[in-house]
Amino acid sequence: MAEALGEFFAAPPSGVSLDLLEAFGRIVQTDDGILPPRVFIEAVEQSPVAISITDTEANIIYANKAFEHLTGYAQEELIGKNQSILSYKVTPIEVYRDLWGSLKQQKPWQGVLINRRKDGGRYLADLMVAPVQGVGGETSYYLAMHRDVTEMHELEQQVRNQKQLIESVVDAAPVVIALLDSRGDVLLKNKAYEQLAIGYAGRELITSLLQELSDGVIATNQDGLLQGNDFFNKELALDDRARGGKRWYTCSGAWIEVKGLEADDYFVANRSPSLLLVLNDISLQKQQQEQVRANAMRALMAEQQLAYGTRETLSGAIFQLQGPLNMLSAALAIQQRRNQSVEYDPLNNALTEVLKSGEQVIENLRSALPKASTEPVTPVNLNEVLREVLGMATDRLLAGGVEIDLHIAPVLPAVLGRRYELCSLVKQLLDNAIDALAEPGCSRRDIRITTRTEDNDIVLTMHDSGPGIEETQHFKVFEPFFSAWRRRKRNHTGMGLTIAQEVAKQHGGNIEIEPQEDYGPGCEVRLILPLKAPRYLANEMSG
Ligand code: FAD
Repeated sequence: MAEALGEFFAAPPSGVSLDLLEAFGRIVQTDDGILPPRVFIEAVEQSPVAISITDTEANIIYANKAFEHLTGYAQEELIGKNQSILSYKVTPIEVYRDLWGSLKQQKPWQGVLINRRKDGGRYLADLMVAPVQGVGGETSYYLAMHRDVTEMHELEQQVRNQKQLIESVVDAAPVVIALLDSRGDVLLKNKAYEQLAIGYAGRELITSLLQELSDGVIATNQDGLLQGNDFFNKELALDDRARGGKRWYTCSGAWIEVKGLEADDYFVANRSPSLLLVLNDISLQKQQQEQVRANAMRALMAEQQLAYGTRETLSGAIFQLQGPLNMLSAALAIQQRRNQSVEYDPLNNALTEVLKSGEQVIENLRSALPKASTEPVTPVNLNEVLREVLGMATDRLLAGGVEIDLHIAPVLPAVLGRRYELCSLVKQLLDNAIDALAEPGCSRRDIRITTRTEDNDIVLTMHDSGPGIEETQHFKVFEPFFSAWRRRKRNHTGMGLTIAQEVAKQHGGNIEIEPQEDYGPGCEVRLILPLKAPRYLANEMSG
């Protein structure tokens, strides 16, 4: 066979042994003979991949130019040597066992080995070995091809290291990070995202997040793909299902063009947009802000209430002083008429003096009346007022074990008014309801609150399960200094409802006490505010 091939190749390439020609002869024999074997030899010889052919013990019988170039060994140094000449004894023995295990089963093997060049330099060899079978089916030779993949490995490792570094940084960052593809599927997420996603099933968290961003920031087109512009620090709230409650975030989004990974994307830059979302937890700041705002509101309301209280008290005192003074004035007139002829009447003089000083006192009290409110008139939503008042009363409600049954209108038009005054009013009604539940003999402790639009009014009702107010006192409760609590209450002057009614009237509205049999015993207080504000409020607003 070897001779036959030798004759066929009149002038075989230098360094090509008869054994090798026989090896090629076997390979070529599988062909139909149309292509001359020389073509194969020249192609292999000039191939840029390191190619070697060994006997079944891995002794080299042929190595091409690229093999010489890569390993640094010349043909004559390689022929007859074992492939282990390249072994750099660091490759784990299991790798060689695996290689030989495959070859013994006449299966090709592919893997990476650490090879050593003649000069001692090492490189990573991506090796492919295949058995070449003889006519009887037995393995006659092994064909090996390998290339240096050190640089590629370095690059891959660099990418892996960078990825790991980025992932550690992203994981350590105290923000929630998620990268979404245009279908809304999560491509990349960090630990904070995973923490937030606890308790959310499937795509629920992304759906909630996109819902929060749907008001003009992110939209979905008719193909169901996300679209929008970059955005910065959009405030949103999400349920924290792991810890319970709501958490507040500022969310920023940046669209990133990611190149496709398909074969089709290799030459053509098919880019698909991905959305990088970064959420910064601002719940603590939000709580602090809310605290500051609530405290400022409490202070303002207390100030207003004090001013109102002083006004009402002084007005009451003026009213009560006015009665005796009127009587005194009448008595003086009678006295003067009786003693017209008398030049000096001491009683007359005394009465005149008392009357004068009484009028002076009234004048002094009038000038001490605090000025009317300077709070601006704005559109006020009674649902929001209620939310704030309930927020302020949370501690009291919890301490008193009071259950709130809230039925608020989902959409409630705003009324024109003074926000803090209306807050004080609603707070007064709620405080009264809570106080009522602390009265003796009160077994149930619940307050039902509703808001609704009724004809041209906004109506807020507060129904407590307390002892109620006798029908004969439905109007009396609005009088100054009236108090009918059975259990003494601190800081109660009997001015609360008087002031509340005053505020309601100033807003063109009214407070009514209604017995509501259908809600069971207790007291229902109804605040009615007109949707169309009184002219003076509207003027103040436009002015
Ligand atoms: P060795 O002790 O010689 O072998 C290590 C283990 O390999 C043994 O414990 C045994 O399990 C297995 N083994 C070795 N020889 C045989 C055998 N004849 N039959 C069954 N199992 C055996 N190695 C490289 O390091 N670099 C190469 O580029 C490379 N190319 C190869 C190309 C071909 C075509 C073939 C067939 C083998 C090639 N080898 C190559 C493997 C090489 O022949 C050695 O097995 C390897 O280098 C380990 O040699 P060693 O002296 O370090 O250890």
